[in-house]
Amino acid sequence: IEERFDAIVVGAGMAGNAAALTMAKRGLKVLQIERGEYPGSKNVQGAILYADMLEKLVPDFREDAPLERHLVEQRFWMMDGKSHTGLHHRSEDFNEEKPNRYTIIRAQFDKWLSSKAQEAGAIVLCETTVKELVQDAYGKVIGVITDREGGQVHADVVVLAEGVNGLLGTKAELRERPTPENVALAVKEMHFLPRETIEARFNLKGDEGVVIEAAGTISAGMTGMGFIYTNKESISIGIGCLVSDFQKTGETPYGLLERFKKHPSVAPLIEGSEVKEYAGHLIPEGGYNAIPQLYGDGWVVVGDAAQLNNAMHREGSNLAMTSGRIAAEAIFQVKSRKDPMTKENLALYKKMLDDSFVIKDLKKYKDMPDLLHIRSQNFFLTYPQLVNKALQNFVRVDGTPKIEKEKTTIKSFVSARSWGGLFGDAFRFARAWR
Ligand code: FAD
Repeated sequence: IEERFDAIVVGAGMAGNAAALTMAKRGLKVLQIERGEYPGSKNVQGAILYADMLEKLVPDFREDAPLERHLVEQRFWMMDGKSHTGLHHRSEDFNEEKPNRYTIIRAQFDKWLSSKAQEAGAIVLCETTVKELVQDAYGKVIGVITDREGGQVHADVVVLAEGVNGLLGTKAELRERPTPENVALAVKEMHFLPRETIEARFNLKGDEGVVIEAAGTISAGMTGMGFIYTNKESISIGIGCLVSDFQKTGETPYGLLERFKKHPSVAPLIEGSEVKEYAGHLIPEGGYNAIPQLYGDGWVVVGDAAQLNNAMHREGSNLAMTSGRIAAEAIFQVKSRKDPMTKENLALYKKMLDDSFVIKDLKKYKDMPDLLHIRSQNFFLTYPQLVNKALQNFVRVDGTPKIEKEKTTIKSFVSARSWGGLFGDAFRFARAWR
């Protein structure tokens, strides 16, 4: 490859595809390099797709994007060993003309989004791994070295959309390696069932879908969550916890998933299904305080590689698409002014990202990852057990006077956590939430 490009994008996931598509649409000469056999072949997600952020890239995406179900219901479950207490929101409003959230299968979706970038003029090179960044004598990134013969390519700017591990950026000392406290390891299975069975089990009609987000004793006191998402003819089920917690407890991700699947609230939902896929992947969960340097001379970093993931709201793909699009817009602006791709000029990307929901949301929850990690035993073990016991006590009718039931519940909370502990946890949680 001897050509020179305006931009090289490393990775064809959500962030890389958004960046490549946006720059190609703006008329820039873009080379996108993906190590997988095809875009999406290496990628793992639950997966919920957020329409608003995709609409900004492909306004009429509903015409041909590979979508599974549009979501009409979200269930949050707090679980103990035998029960769950839920907060469910379902609304006919979600059966709107342009639904707000969909389930997708990444292998199909990434391929489709990449086809849009290619139609716009981006050159996409698959089965090619970028081994290193090429830097000039002053440290400016001027290209990449791939694993192809003679595979050194040059460009004015390199967009690092290489996902959570961010090996290239780390290797070039542009950023630090993510720590085990800042990344979760998640495993996921796809359970296939006839669509009528899924619709009956989840109370759905047509392409309606449901998501269940679950926390509690299923994570064995570690900071983590489980999820169940409905696709047309399959159910995605998974669980993830912080890598540092796995190290500490010796628990295994597949061990947790097996227990989650056997939980009496979960087992009937997947009963009789055929498992066709099993995948494991990291998720950046360090939030605002874990965001690395986002730009430098000749480079920007986007998506999971920039740790842009909102663990509180289970959002990642939308932050990836938005950061990819914004980085591309910033690069286009610098290019149109005929300015060089220096650190000073590429600071525009950070400025634009700061003004977007991406950084505003991550900033809002900046103290949450630490709080949940340090107090994971309380939030993921003690409280779910207490809440489930309290709710069971509340609904069970056994002749015990209600006043005594209330006393028993209050006593169970105080003896588990003490008044000071309860107020302290509530105060810390409220402060981290605001
Ligand atoms: P990726 O999608 O990881 O893409 C990176 C790409 O770069 C890959 O294609 C990879 O092959 C390629 N690559 C890496 N290194 C190189 C190299 N050296 N050379 C060439 N190519 C390279 N987010 C949501 O919004 N909703 C959800 O429901 C949701 N659920 C999730 C469930 C799980 C189990 C997991 C693991 C994540 C989930 N996420 C979810 C997060 C979401 O998947 C990520 O935020 C999103 O995929 C990030 O996109 P990305 O493009 O930054 O990275």
